[in-house]
Amino acid sequence: MSKKKGPQALSTIAIHGGAETRHAGDPVVAPLVQSVNYVQEVGTGAGLKYTRYGNTPNAERIQKRIAMLEGAEASIVLSSGMGATACAMLALLRPGDHLLASAYIYGGTHRLLTEEFNRHGIDVTLVDPFEPRAWRKRLRKETRAIFVESPVNPTCRVLDLRPISYLTKEVGLALVVDSTFASPVNFRPIEHGADVVIHSATKYLNGHHDVLSGVVAGTESYIQEVLQKEMVWGQTPDPFALWLLERGLKTIDVRVRRQNDNAMRIAHWCSDRKEIKRVHYPGLSDHPDHEIARAMLDGFGGMIALELSGGGKATDKFLRRLKLITHAASLGGVDSLICEPRYTSHAAMSSEERARIGIPDGFLRLSIGIEDADDIIADIEQALK
Ligand SMILES: *Cc1c(COP(=O)(O)O)cnc(C)c1O
Repeated sequence: MSKKKGPQALSTIAIHGGAETRHAGDPVVAPLVQSVNYVQEVGTGAGLKYTRYGNTPNAERIQKRIAMLEGAEASIVLSSGMGATACAMLALLRPGDHLLASAYIYGGTHRLLTEEFNRHGIDVTLVDPFEPRAWRKRLRKETRAIFVESPVNPTCRVLDLRPISYLTKEVGLALVVDSTFASPVNFRPIEHGADVVIHSATKYLNGHHDVLSGVVAGTESYIQEVLQKEMVWGQTPDPFALWLLERGLKTIDVRVRRQNDNAMRIAHWCSDRKEIKRVHYPGLSDHPDHEIARAMLDGFGGMIALELSGGGKATDKFLRRLKLITHAASLGGVDSLICEPRYTSHAAMSSEERARIGIPDGFLRLSIGIEDADDIIADIEQALK
C-alpha cells in the first residue's frame, strides 16, 4: 500500500521532498555546511548569520521535508525531543494560562509539565484520557491547549483523537500531539485534527541511534513562534546532527514497515508463551485500543511491551540472557533494544505514579529493530528458558 501525500508517496518525499533541482556536477547528497557563522552583507541584518538562528541550509532543507511528511505548513528541527516539547509549549502558553495534558506521557515530558511549567505561571492538569468526557470536565476559561501522546510510551495505548479534536475545535484550543512512537509512516495526527505535532527525532525519524534531535510541525506562523523560543532558549541543533538526520530519514518508510512486520510477528509469538503474562501491542486483537489503532494508524508500530509471568526476578534473568536484543534506553532505531521504563523513560516518576498509568515494576519495553524476525524470536526464546 503506497501512502500518497499529494502528488508523491511518503517514501518518495522522505528522499526528495522539497529538494532543489540538481544540475550536472552537483553532489547527489546535499552537503554538510558545518559553519557556525556566515559572511554578512554590510549595512543589513538580513540573511543567514548564525547557526543558532535556525535557518542554515541543512536545517531549511530537512524542515521542509518533515513538514511535507506530516502534512503541515512548516516544521522546525530542535536539538532534542525535550527541546522540541519545551519550545512548542512555551510558544503556545503564557503565564496565567492553563494546559490540559494526558497523564499517559513520557517521563521527561511529565517532569517538564509538572515541575517546570508551574514555576512560569502555567497551570497544568493531568487527565486520564481513557475516562469518558475527561477533557471537557476539566476545561477552564484559561485553558489554551490539550497535550497528548499517542501511541503512549511505553504502554502502547492508542488515543482516539476524534473526540479530542472535536472539542479543541469547538472551544478554540490547540491540540498538540507527541507521535514519536508512530513516526509519520504510521500516524499523521494533523489528518486527524491535531494542530501541532511533536517528535523526538532521536527515535524513528533518524532511526540509527546516533542523533539527538526533535521536531515540531504546525502552521507557518506558529513555527515562527517556536523558532523565537528555539533561538533564546538555545535549542538549535548542530548542522552535523541535521545532516545525519536527513540521511537517516531517507530510509524511514522501509525501516518502519519492516519494524511493523517484525513487531506483529514477535507480538503474536510472545502471546503464545506461558512465560509471558501479558503482551501489549496495538496490533493484537485483545489490545484495549485495537479498534482505535485501526482507525488512527497506518501501521501498528515497532514497539511492544511485555510483562513476564515470573515478575521482577524473571525479568532480571531474562535481560541478562538476551544476546541479540540490547539492554539500552531509547527506541525506534535499526537495532532491537529492550529496557525497563522504571529505570529509563519513567525514572522520574514514583512507583505508584507509574502503576497508575499501567507500568508496574518489571514491565519491559521492546523496541523492535530491522533484524530478521526469526533471529529476534530465537533470542527471546533462548532467554526465556
Ligand atoms: C524519547 C522521547 C521524548 C524525548 O526525546 P529526546 O530526544 O530524548 O529529548 C519525548 N517523547 C517521547 C514519546 C519519547 O519517546
